Amino acid sequence: MGGQAVFSGEHEQLRKAVRAFVEKEVTPCVAAWETAGRIPRTFWRRLGELGLLGLDFPVAYGGSGGDFLSSVVLGEEMARCRSGGVAFSVLVHTDMSSPWLVRYGTEAQKRRYLPRVLSGETVCALAITEPGAGSDMAALATRAERRGDHYVLTGRKIFITNGVHGDLYFVAARTGPATAERRHDGLSMFLVERGLPGFEVSRTLDKMGMRASDTAELAFDGYAVPAESLLGVEGRGFQQLAAGLQRERTMVAVLALSGAAQALEDTIAYLRERQAFGEPLAARQVLRHRVAELATDLEAARQLVYHAARLHAAGEECVREVSMAKLLATEVANRVAYHAVQLHGGYGYMREFPVEGFFRDVRLWTIASGTSEIMREIIAKRLPL
Ligand SMILES: Cc1cc2nc3c(=O)[nH]c(=O)nc-3n(C[C@H](O)[C@H](O)[C@H](O)COP(=O)(O)OP(=O)(O)OC[C@H]3O[C@@H](n4cnc5c(N)ncnc54)[C@H](O)[C@@H]3O)c2cc1C
Repeated sequence: MGGQAVFSGEHEQLRKAVRAFVEKEVTPCVAAWETAGRIPRTFWRRLGELGLLGLDFPVAYGGSGGDFLSSVVLGEEMARCRSGGVAFSVLVHTDMSSPWLVRYGTEAQKRRYLPRVLSGETVCALAITEPGAGSDMAALATRAERRGDHYVLTGRKIFITNGVHGDLYFVAARTGPATAERRHDGLSMFLVERGLPGFEVSRTLDKMGMRASDTAELAFDGYAVPAESLLGVEGRGFQQLAAGLQRERTMVAVLALSGAAQALEDTIAYLRERQAFGEPLAARQVLRHRVAELATDLEAARQLVYHAARLHAAGEECVREVSMAKLLATEVANRVAYHAVQLHGGYGYMREFPVEGFFRDVRLWTIASGTSEIMREIIAKRLPL
């Protein structure tokens, strides 16, 4: 990807290092991990060793002290590994769960968890969605009732990435009632460790794509969470989550776009090589124009994503821009996937060609982390409609 004006020399150095690591140590393994339905523990520890699990975490806790754009670089380069599931798993850990610990954790919580989160010994998952509540977060029904020095957690979570093999779960639960005017009140966040009675992975979910990332249904049945595992302020869970969602959605846009850019590169290579009617397909004007159109869509979406990422990195208000970036990037990436398969002909439908996997993986992005419909809703609310 381009974008010299967005990234500093240091970012570009990081990009070079991550790209070399991905080419040498990730891409050759993704087929095996896709089949296994998970990424191995040794890989998490390798990421930790390389310092890639805490790029913008404070140095005091073992992070690299970089900025959010370093994480964007990580997302872009991981997404080039040709397995959406690997990139998704890693970024759920680095960008969609553990940052909440830095932002809302107490000193004791940070000291307890961050070293292992950054070394890759502890894998993180974010557990918000429930069988009866996805887009409508206020409808969450998992309850956390205070009893003395702990809370008792009861309920179910679904579609939880890293949920099957994770260690530390950032769980949203209801600690108090919602009111008719303030439906989002009464939610809280908890740090939940696996391995104690009352908490089980009730199902490993089988899915269309993202196969290297494990996805769980979780059941809490009277699970006792110590009161000191409350993350942030009781009853303010929704507000805390809403603040972090801009980072998560920007990252989803980054992953979708970078994967699409890779798929387009693969397609161009294929068109140059594949002969039909006595010449390479790349010589056909109708196909060249299709590729030109997709490259233009990608570039437009990329500029919007970088704009949103810069606003977020600067701590500015960016809900509108992030929602637009997530909407456009994920829709464009799906369009690229459709045409990448089409331009490969029958080979595009075969498992041995990476565009086949991308086509399945990319379908998630207009759904997860807020659907396209919800993005349009958020944007519409910020227009003078
Ligand atoms: C592979 C995978 C991984 C995931 N990982 C995680 C994870 O790690 N942690 C986690 O907490 N969640 C995770 N999710 C959940 C994901 O974020 C939700 O699936 C998503 O938010 C949509 O919620 P839902 O599935 O309940 O759909 P619903 O909310 O039931 O929506 C169904 C359809 O109705 C539309 N819709 C809903 N409300 C409106 C409205 N007001 N106006 C217009 N249209 C509307 C939606 O856009 C959608 O098209 C994951 C999902 C998948 C598939």
